[in-house]
Amino acid sequence: MKKVVKFGGSSLASASQFQKAASIIKAEKSRRYVVPSAPGKRFDGDVKVTDMLYDCYETAIGGKNFDKKLTKIQERYNEIIEGLHLNLSLDKEFEQIHDFFMKGAGKNYAASRGEYLNGIVMAAYLGFPFVDAAEVIFFDRDGNFDSEKTNKTLSAKLAKMECAVIPGFYGAMPGGAIKTFSRGGSDITGSIVARAVKADLYENWTDVSGFLVTDPHIVENPESIETITYRELRELAYMGASVLHDEAIFPVRSEGIPINIRNTNDPSAPGTMIVESTCKKPKYTITGIAGKKGFAAVNIEKDRMNSEVGFGRKVLSVFEENGISFEHIPSGIDTMSVFVQQSEFEEKEQKVLAGIHRMVKPDYLEMESDLALVAVVGRGMRSTRGTAGRIFSALAHADINIRMIDQGSSELNIIIGVDSKDFERAIRAIYDIFVTARL
Ligand code: ASP
Repeated sequence: MKKVVKFGGSSLASASQFQKAASIIKAEKSRRYVVPSAPGKRFDGDVKVTDMLYDCYETAIGGKNFDKKLTKIQERYNEIIEGLHLNLSLDKEFEQIHDFFMKGAGKNYAASRGEYLNGIVMAAYLGFPFVDAAEVIFFDRDGNFDSEKTNKTLSAKLAKMECAVIPGFYGAMPGGAIKTFSRGGSDITGSIVARAVKADLYENWTDVSGFLVTDPHIVENPESIETITYRELRELAYMGASVLHDEAIFPVRSEGIPINIRNTNDPSAPGTMIVESTCKKPKYTITGIAGKKGFAAVNIEKDRMNSEVGFGRKVLSVFEENGISFEHIPSGIDTMSVFVQQSEFEEKEQKVLAGIHRMVKPDYLEMESDLALVAVVGRGMRSTRGTAGRIFSALAHADINIRMIDQGSSELNIIIGVDSKDFERAIRAIYDIFVTARL
């Protein structure tokens, strides 16, 4: 059994959190490859080391004195090192970081130091060898992750190592310049390492006991999800549910390696298993509910639209020309609506409207804003009758007007458009009917 364990920032924010992580790692021999994040928040209102580094580097390139800010960052590490009674000094590393900041080594380099240094501390504490991610994780010239080169180098390197600490979040470009993934990217590194060593399991240790059925800011104490498939997760993550970085599933998915989301502060909780596919019946008909506000819709009407071949293509080409991606396109005989993200659309709306007029000469064109989309996701829906009926009656009872309905062809999700003001109530109504009332 071989496991890759990734620890998030809050799991490594202080010496006591480090101790928890280390005892989790030592509890099982199979936990051999460790991917740490940078120290996160120790308490509400605290600042993540990654953000301190960004800020410090900004000061440096602004030509101002950044010594104080860098010392504050070193103090974060020293507090951990002292708390763990380690005989380790990061003075040399901080001197080098200072020099590189002076030379303008870049924002990516600056941010990556959070994980790099935490990796050194973690390796010293565990007695594991340290592997600099810059030597094994690669990006191409355009800054895209180079999965094949990485997989070749990383798997060859780790094949010779019984155990290792590989810092998350960054890698190197062809010339050696450091590049990071987007924020939260240590999740991706963990997945890449799991693929490279052909792990049996990728454990992602964070500060919640797995995925929740819905957002705890909307429903108080929602249940957690035991098992979720990659596809369900992707639907929910796209709609805003965030525990794991969106792109973290791809490397392990290609190898069929499951991900287990676990809680460092509650290691006995089983967390959520993310799998390719499962025979396990979900506990409820639905697996999860997520949603987002901030959508706009462009409604187009034209008599006999149905017989005008190429109508949809022409409309969508206007969005394409303006660099706007669409979310959904519900349509009727003589009507078609295009749902887009409002923030992306706002500055280009007049251009888009003019473009549609030019392309298809509609009888009527109208725009709506402040719409929200709610995604009800579940592999169980395909084999259950009446799911849509129950959703709609729950919303009707809650006095919520449905503005749009879209069931994906995978029968894995039903997307419902409502007014933004009804968003939270819609999620609560759906949660209540499926989870609380178990209908
Ligand atoms: N430390 C980075 C961030 O704050 C990456 C990570 O934690 O995954 O985004």
